[in-house]
Amino acid sequence: MTRTLTDGDRRAIRERYAAERDKRLRPDGNEQYAEPSGRFVNLLDDTYVQAQPRESLDTDVHVLVVGAGFAGLVTGARLKQAGIEDVRLIDKAGDVGGVWYWNRYPGAMCDTAAMIYLPLMEEVGTVPSAKYVPAPEIHAHAKRIATVFGLYDKALLSTGIVSIDWDEASSRYVVRTDRGDTLRARYVCMGTGPLHRPKLPGIPGLQSFRGHAFHTSRWDWAYTGGDPTGALMTGLADKRVGIIGTGATAVQCIPHLSRAAKDLCVFQRTPSAIDARNNHPIDPEWFAGLEPGWQRKWMMNFTTLQTMGFADEDLVMDGWTDISLRIRDRMIEIIKAGGEMGPETLLKAYEDSDDEKMSEIRDRVDSIIVDPRAAAALKPWYRQLCKRPCFHDEYLQSFNNPNTHLVDTDGKGVERIDETGAWVGGVHHELDCIVIASGFEVGTSYSRRSGYDVTGRGGQRLSDCWADGMRSLHGMNVHGFPNLFILGFSQAANQIANVPQNYVENGLAIAAIMSHADASGAVQVEPSQAAEDAWIDFITSVTRGIRGGMDCTPGSYNNEGREMGRREQMNSSGHPGGPIAFFQHLEQWRSTGEFEGLEFR
Ligand code: NDP
Repeated sequence: MTRTLTDGDRRAIRERYAAERDKRLRPDGNEQYAEPSGRFVNLLDDTYVQAQPRESLDTDVHVLVVGAGFAGLVTGARLKQAGIEDVRLIDKAGDVGGVWYWNRYPGAMCDTAAMIYLPLMEEVGTVPSAKYVPAPEIHAHAKRIATVFGLYDKALLSTGIVSIDWDEASSRYVVRTDRGDTLRARYVCMGTGPLHRPKLPGIPGLQSFRGHAFHTSRWDWAYTGGDPTGALMTGLADKRVGIIGTGATAVQCIPHLSRAAKDLCVFQRTPSAIDARNNHPIDPEWFAGLEPGWQRKWMMNFTTLQTMGFADEDLVMDGWTDISLRIRDRMIEIIKAGGEMGPETLLKAYEDSDDEKMSEIRDRVDSIIVDPRAAAALKPWYRQLCKRPCFHDEYLQSFNNPNTHLVDTDGKGVERIDETGAWVGGVHHELDCIVIASGFEVGTSYSRRSGYDVTGRGGQRLSDCWADGMRSLHGMNVHGFPNLFILGFSQAANQIANVPQNYVENGLAIAAIMSHADASGAVQVEPSQAAEDAWIDFITSVTRGIRGGMDCTPGSYNNEGREMGRREQMNSSGHPGGPIAFFQHLEQWRSTGEFEGLEFR
């Protein structure tokens, strides 16, 4: 039910938001986090698949796609659809799937609806079991894309990149790997994603802990028992488990830990906003009756509504479209009452509807949590888009279990860790096992996140080129780096809620560019400096969107509360008209066959 708020309520909410933010601001921002070292030095290893010995390759390849997650898979599929056959995926993981390969923690699922989240469903024949599907089902879909499009055939899995260097004489990238391969690629597509390098919380003494410890993205099933499909983790029946972090990952695995562990301490720095999920099975008969082309229609409908556009119906109808529809409808109310269309009205509509939404989310905590002190601590005091919104129907309920203890750190984080446990507010919590749910490196430099650099024309390094912020045409091509394609969403649609839609749309453009080059005998494709500059000017001319900014509690969505300088603005910019405008622009741009701004040589 929609909450009615007085002006006084709204003022009190703002004051509380400011106080909660100030409490959490810290001078070290992203620097607070640590890279894996010491007892965690093997954190980046693949614990799921043992790399098999193989001969090193020394060969040419037409398209090398780095990263076999949805970015790489969808792009590879689009290339195959366009008749480009010589495509080789490369990934340090032992199988395809990207984040869905690495994240096998209990309860892992995606809370973007499967109908739009699983790319190329019509092409590969996937029927989702439910509105929101679990990680193993998503991983199976990724594998199906690889199988149906023949992307396994040449894939180099369990293989890490060491270097990618442009060779002007041959108009190819020379790519070296940690398996001794030398690959000479006409094109390189970089689909390495923003969430693949786990980070550690900067808690003093973490290294000294003598018990068991692992990061959620490398779940230790041998220790916990159970399995990713949800079987009880019997190995924890006699264990005191602590989990550090209460972000989107922790929210999903805590109900499972609560069910299995003898005792569970949840160390909370900032509570997540937990809205209802309302999952339900998908009726296969209804699904079979969908018209061909349904998935693009659903994706476009979702994105239109999620970015406050207009559509006759809400096909997905979930928490994401609810957020946007509330803001849109409030804007209409304000304009009908004589307000002007413009940024101020948008901001007011956003703030009003967000106040109501977040009040409902806080009320929901009270309606579920029995202990009033725990309920107070579990209430989020910030705007919903300051952090990744969470949707779950069992998370809050876990705190009613007698074995599950909320250790609220009042925004400060865990004080320190010693050989036997964790300290908060002068109290020691004895632990046998620490589950680290502190997330991934998002705001650090490109080379730090990937572990290697790309060098372009004249030996220029991509990390240097982007030191003051990303530069590109369409978020895809970079001047000085011929034949390189970035698979992402920055400087493009900037679509965050349904990330795979970016790959589905951008893949069509990439396939068109390569086909055009091949047909015209060109061996180099690169945006002109002028075209790149013009694109950057265009996308940074207007700050679009209302995602959390300086008044938010710190986190990965807002540069950990540090000022968004030119670099951060460049990295997070997108088409000023929003994702749909970008997708339309890209479609028109590629359909002319002229690819304005790109130089083919
Ligand atoms: P996050 O970065 O979102 O969360 C990290 C958590 O660790 C936060 O709660 C953070 O607190 C906490 N933390 C960090 N340092 C300390 C400390 N010193 N003491 C105590 N707590 C600490 O990582 P996640 O893995 O949860 O999520 C990463 C991303 O993955 C999400 O943004 C989302 O995009 C994606 N994801 C999506 C899912 C879905 O579809 N449902 C599920 C899982 C992940 P604080 O908030 O105060 O910084």
